[in-house]
Amino acid sequence: MSINREWHATHKLARDASIEERLHWHIQHSVNCGCREIPTSIKRELEARGMTLPTPRSLK
Ligand SMILES: [Zn+2]
Repeated sequence: MSINREWHATHKLARDASIEERLHWHIQHSVNCGCREIPTSIKRELEARGMTLPTPRSLK
């Protein structure tokens, strides 16, 4: 899988980021970059909130 370096350079996720920030980051990441999968814990949190994932870039 390729890394969208430009996106990563402008979208840093802080170590102390809140769950909301992590969810937002991973949603945006899955759309803009396919270098890694969304962690299971994040997927569960999205499902718990009734949020659907956009189609990953890697599957387009
Ligand atoms: Zn990435």
